Amino acid sequence: MTIPKKPDVTIIGAGLAGAECAWQLLAGGFSVHLIDCKPEVFGAYRLPGYAELVCSNSLKSDDPETAGGLLKREMRSLGSIVLDVADRQRLRAGGALAVDRERFSAAVTNRLTEHALVTVESRKVDAIPVDTAFTVVATGPLTEPDLAAQIDSDHLHFFDATAPIVSAESINPDLSFAAGRYGKGGDDYINCPLNEAEYRTFYDALLNGRVVETTAYDDRVFAHCQPIERLAARGIDTIRYGPMRPTGLTDPKTGRRPYAVLQLRREDAAAQMWGLVGFQTRLTFPEQQRIFRLIPALAEAEFFRYGVMHRNTYVQGPRVLGGGNVLKQNSRIFAAGQLTGVEGYMESASSGLITGRFIRHLLEGKSRTMADRLLPAGDTMIGALHQYVISSESPDYQPMNANFGLFAPTPDTPARKAARKAFYGARSAASIQRMLEAEHA
Ligand SMILES: Cc1cc2nc3c(=O)[nH]c(=O)nc-3n(C[C@H](O)[C@H](O)[C@H](O)COP(=O)(O)OP(=O)(O)OC[C@H]3O[C@@H](n4cnc5c(N)ncnc54)[C@H](O)[C@@H]3O)c2cc1C
Repeated sequence: MTIPKKPDVTIIGAGLAGAECAWQLLAGGFSVHLIDCKPEVFGAYRLPGYAELVCSNSLKSDDPETAGGLLKREMRSLGSIVLDVADRQRLRAGGALAVDRERFSAAVTNRLTEHALVTVESRKVDAIPVDTAFTVVATGPLTEPDLAAQIDSDHLHFFDATAPIVSAESINPDLSFAAGRYGKGGDDYINCPLNEAEYRTFYDALLNGRVVETTAYDDRVFAHCQPIERLAARGIDTIRYGPMRPTGLTDPKTGRRPYAVLQLRREDAAAQMWGLVGFQTRLTFPEQQRIFRLIPALAEAEFFRYGVMHRNTYVQGPRVLGGGNVLKQNSRIFAAGQLTGVEGYMESASSGLITGRFIRHLLEGKSRTMADRLLPAGDTMIGALHQYVISSESPDYQPMNANFGLFAPTPDTPARKAARKAFYGARSAASIQRMLEAEHA
């Protein structure tokens, strides 16, 4: 097939989102021009190829009864390149989907660059091209501020820390209490008290916990934002006078001020997700689970999201993006991936998949309204995450990963957790099926 002089779509950034977006377009027979700095690297990137997993080699759980696993199942049924390559290359990793980073990146790169409808260009883009039919900006969390400002000039955010989020039902109500400091704020916070012995055990574990390796680059970027374990290293009482201070709080069970307290703050309107206040961290995910579960009320904590520390440039999705991640200000420019305010490898890939399918529908001659209608619905994980990006009402829009808290409660949602997960799975499968049938109607 001959490549038209002007490609149907130009994609800037061939990371997880850019690669996925390209694949969806190629599947529809449309031509793609990929522009990426690679093989040159900057920041945290190390590999010469596309779709680099910058840190962990795990794409997390593959169990469809987890939020991440459900997202994967949906993406497989929508023809994801990331999952197709990962499935062929999977390493033994229990219930997780893990790959060899270099082989994974090389395989995705080969598939794309060898495709007859793909042209590639190696350069760092500093201005979004204006002479293309459709352009997708998928330059990831390390996008230079000047480039990101072309999508969101006023409200560009630099987000460099996330604290973990746990599920409401996994917080032990007998070992915690709802209260605001000095009686202010009603039950806005759940407080998890520790006595002196519990605090010392927790503190020792925190000091000795395994952290994700950092680069000099990261250290420069985060010089002013200290993870909880680094704060703790300053002295045994530093965090007890900081994020874990008990001042203004009385434990109703003892009638006394606790020795130390972890506060949890609600993350969603339905109060299903609770964030660990001030606990931004660089601990590895297994260490977060082990160490934070030493806090008595969190002994059984279920983590909706783990804390991560890295530079993260993202735009205010709900303000600047519409369905399919199109710019509200320019219907020919789209964003995709972490830049839109999703968090994580698969989430970023899923965002590229949505954008690719949306543009494919437009190129097929469907109206924008029809392309909107063909987006995955909010009862799928991929659709719920996309709706969060384009319509979250939170005044403090923050990057989000796949989690069941994104599903709005419905009257038919089972109360029992096990039944609920099966319900979500069946509902998602039916919804994706309906969407695929509507595409071909
Ligand atoms: C240090 C670090 C560690 C992380 N660890 C994890 C983890 O363990 N697990 C997890 O799920 N997520 C992790 N993340 C988040 C992860 O980056 C994203 O989830 C995911 O890779 C983002 O996908 P993306 O496609 O949006 O961007 P990326 O995968 O980052 O791809 C962006 C691409 O754009 C290219 N590019 C950037 N700027 C330009 C430009 N101006 N011109 C041309 N090309 C450009 C880059 O070379 C790259 O190929 C981490 C992020 C960072 C920064």
